[in-house]
Amino acid sequence: MKIAFIGLGNMGGGMAANLVKAGHAVSAFDLSAGALERASASGCTPCKTVAEAVAGAEAVVSMLPNGKIVDSVYGEEVLGKAPAGALLLDCSTIDVATARKVAEAAQHAGYAMVDAPVSGGIAAAAAGTLTFMVGGRGEAFARAQPILAAMGKTVIHAGESGAGQAAKLCNNMLLAIHMIGTCEAFAMAQKLGLDPQTFYDISSVSSGQNWSITSYCPVPGVGPTSPADNNYEGGFATALMLKDLTLALAAAEEAGVDPAMGKRARELYDAFANAGNAGRDFSAIIETLG
Ligand code: NAD
Repeated sequence: MKIAFIGLGNMGGGMAANLVKAGHAVSAFDLSAGALERASASGCTPCKTVAEAVAGAEAVVSMLPNGKIVDSVYGEEVLGKAPAGALLLDCSTIDVATARKVAEAAQHAGYAMVDAPVSGGIAAAAAGTLTFMVGGRGEAFARAQPILAAMGKTVIHAGESGAGQAAKLCNNMLLAIHMIGTCEAFAMAQKLGLDPQTFYDISSVSSGQNWSITSYCPVPGVGPTSPADNNYEGGFATALMLKDLTLALAAAEEAGVDPAMGKRARELYDAFANAGNAGRDFSAIIETLG
């Protein structure tokens, strides 16, 4: 299949490479010359404009920084330029309202579109093991499924347009909350005289068990290898967690709900990022919770 890929950064670079490995012809565009060069080295055809990339494409995949950029790239450079009937897949993490607005504009212009944000970081994007949460009509999901399966291990239909973003934002708000709770519990256990490994052995098989303990333990040398074992480098940057919490709280406000723990998590991550930790893994917040 001929696929256009727009946005070949940390995530998109690996995803586009996996589409090539699956046998697709990928025409790639990014504003960054370096990103385009890397995409070219992994077998994509580099293009000078979005219009050049989407010409003749059966599907367009995007992995862009935010909703404003997604809105302008689709509104000004994809709709009306990609062939009629092409399937549009936006995998960026953006606000629910913009995802719905862009999908509606796409539908008016004769395209099927899905929002398909991901869970999993740069390593999962490179390894093709992402989880995709997909919003859009059933027939659009059916067409998107094999394309997404070439870049991930799990592809789930979450509901109508915007539902993929809604699922992603609710999931990441929960992740922020249980990471902070996990950090508090480990810090308190240590102050109460418990050995961290002993507390891990207990909490990882008891009712406090959660993914932040068993897959991403924030304490160095405890549990499986995680960013804590690498001085909190790599992993999921605090700035990205803060972005997702901000989007989650905007969605909560639109839905008329008031998530007290989500709000507190955003305050804590905001303060942590502003103290010079925006580029560090989000589990490093344990340093401030002792
Ligand atoms: P990134 O900044 O590394 O990549 C974004 C790319 O988009 C850059 O190469 C940039 O040059 C390009 N770009 C920006 N504006 C453009 C335009 N108008 N036209 C074409 N290209 C343009 O970011 P990333 O880490 O790859 O994240 C991409 C998306 O994935 C974000 O929405 C992010 O929230 C989401 N995400 C990231 C992670 C992660 O761990 N990095 C995990 C899950 C989801």
